[in-house]
Amino acid sequence: MKIPYGKHDISTSDVEAVIQVLTSSKITQGDTVPLFEQEICSVVGAREGVAVNSATSAIHLAILALDLQPGEFVWTTPITFAATANCVLHCGGKIDFVDIDPSTFNMCSKALEVKLINAKKTNNSPKIVIPVHMAGQSADMKEIYNLSKKYGFKVIEDASHAIGASINDEKIGSCKYSDITVFSFHPVKIITTGEGGIAVTNSADLARKMRMLRSHGITKLQKDFEFSENGGWYYEMQSLGFNFRMTDIQAALGLSQLSRLTDFIKKRNILAQRYDKFLDQNNIILPHVRAGMKSAFHLYIIKLKNVTDKANLFSELTSSGFGVNVHYIPVHTHPFYRKLGFGFGDFPKSEDYYARAITLPLYPQLTFEEQDLVINRINGFFK
Ligand SMILES: *Cc1c(COP(=O)(O)O)cnc(C)c1O
Repeated sequence: MKIPYGKHDISTSDVEAVIQVLTSSKITQGDTVPLFEQEICSVVGAREGVAVNSATSAIHLAILALDLQPGEFVWTTPITFAATANCVLHCGGKIDFVDIDPSTFNMCSKALEVKLINAKKTNNSPKIVIPVHMAGQSADMKEIYNLSKKYGFKVIEDASHAIGASINDEKIGSCKYSDITVFSFHPVKIITTGEGGIAVTNSADLARKMRMLRSHGITKLQKDFEFSENGGWYYEMQSLGFNFRMTDIQAALGLSQLSRLTDFIKKRNILAQRYDKFLDQNNIILPHVRAGMKSAFHLYIIKLKNVTDKANLFSELTSSGFGVNVHYIPVHTHPFYRKLGFGFGDFPKSEDYYARAITLPLYPQLTFEEQDLVINRINGFFK
């Protein structure tokens, strides 16, 4: 018996949707990507969507669209996938981190304010802050938004874990508290396109910039031309862009997956509640969802009260075929980031979280019977 920590859920209608595009005249740059963008927008409540080949690309484009200049600061949290921080460096920015709130594993808005006050004194204020909705629960977006107005920075939500989540009935992706929100469609995430991501925004200007950069900085829209058109073949390359395009094959899969989003979130929440109910809490701390938050439960993360239990429990679970994982090794402790001057001790709450955290299996197809095996194994470990 082998149970992974996360797994995609592909239905026969997903397969049929992909085949339909594969046997049509356009497998990329057709109508399915724009359709997928519209559908995501209507589900999450944003005006514009720019679908790309990964969430990493979406974060990259979002940073460029917000006009980060070389040497300007972007802040995120150490408890994220390295991609969030890497994009900043690819754009020529400087990276720094804000420690987490141990109860939600999200960027702590109080620590953010303290850091902003200090940064203002030394003229090192960030141009952009990227909160991450860790495990599927929104960060303190209202507080972060208020700070963005007070201290003058832009906000990108890394919602790679959080499509289908909400904060006070406001859907993640509505961009009520941010400039741009990014979702990932990697197979372990809530819905998948194989590889893929999207940046959503309510700003037509930001969407236009990201759309151009997605495809080499080229525009084919006459209204956007800088020079007068001289024929039907004409297009302009106006900025130095990339090929970050999503294919129509991927978008077809995404559209079909999106129709089951509510079902996926429901199943994930039911399984999370079963972990809450049956895991013995003597030695572990269960994840906490705050009042007013609806988590997408991309991940179910427990923390061990005793740090010395982590390695033993982890190896016992993996050797028994249970796919546990750790999200994440704090970004600032990776060798590459240490060479930039970061190190252990810089963000103690993130480091303490890392010393205790284990991600348990959670995905829509996980059965109660399989989940009970995981639960019994963990409870048995402490007996
Ligand atoms: C998965 C993930 C990414 C990167 O997503 P890709 O689609 O794989 O590029 C970025 N940030 C977070 C928090 C993620 O979980």
